[in-house]
Amino acid sequence: MTSAPPTSNPPSSSVPSSSRPLAGRNAVVTGSTSGIGLGVARALAAAGASVTLNGLGDAAGIEAIRAGLAAETGVAVRHSAADMRRPEDIAAMIADAEGALGPVDILVNNAGIQFVAPVESFPLDRWDDIMAINLSATFHATRAVFGGMKARGWGRIINTGSAHALAASPFKVAYVAAKHGVMGLTKVVALEGAEFGVTCNTICPGYVWTPLVEQQIDDQCKVHNKSRDEVIRDILLAPQPTKRFVTVDEIGALAVFLAGDAARSITGTALSVDGGWIAR
Ligand code: NAD
Repeated sequence: MTSAPPTSNPPSSSVPSSSRPLAGRNAVVTGSTSGIGLGVARALAAAGASVTLNGLGDAAGIEAIRAGLAAETGVAVRHSAADMRRPEDIAAMIADAEGALGPVDILVNNAGIQFVAPVESFPLDRWDDIMAINLSATFHATRAVFGGMKARGWGRIINTGSAHALAASPFKVAYVAAKHGVMGLTKVVALEGAEFGVTCNTICPGYVWTPLVEQQIDDQCKVHNKSRDEVIRDILLAPQPTKRFVTVDEIGALAVFLAGDAARSITGTALSVDGGWIAR
């Protein structure tokens, strides 16, 4: 017997074929003056979305990134210097982005830091900063856009998790705890947004070659008393079966897909881009 589709399903719209599938969308990408966030911002802008960048760095360097991205893609690109440790900065960043470019359709919670130390000597200020930037900022930014997305019946919240949102490694107690927390948040937001056209997912990269990893190599050299090459081979890429770093372009391409209409049924989940790490 063939059963009819549930009557509550709307007619499926066609998948946009344009090379600018996100034209008219407005995105905010936290932690996007460098690394993965910049790669995601570049991919979203190339797909047609206007973008508010966020992140720290010297003003001239950030302005060069902003202007370069705008020239490269032809979309509006702004920058917010909001400190992701400060809830009031985050609320102001969203209000400013909406005032300048319209309602936020796509929020990418990407800002993150790392620190590597044994539990018993893990510095308290590092714990607090990692929790604030990697976990609490995701809540604060989501909280600021979520009501509007629900009211408009469309929204995409994409979090940058990590393989460490799904599995642990020693010496990363704050990072692993925060990233697991992001997965919990992802599931709740997905459930609350599900009937309103708002999805929430977490991309879980393995090791991606970025400044954050560069700093970890130094930290791991000290903790393990190993050389740089030994740390890359024996520690960083040891759990990554492909034995190569993930690229920021690979993460950007997935973010564009998740931000599109074809991904409307993907919500509340972790999407691993980790060279097979989590398959072990
Ligand atoms: P990165 O150091 O290259 O970039 C981090 C970005 O966050 C920068 O733009 C920085 O200015 C910004 N930032 C840091 N502190 C901030 C603050 N207080 N307020 C505002 N912005 C702040 O790092 P990345 O490797 O691109 O990491 C980006 C995200 O990807 C993080 O959430 C990280 O945990 C995650 N991640 C990275 C890897 C990897 O291998 N690089 C793997 C898995 C997950």
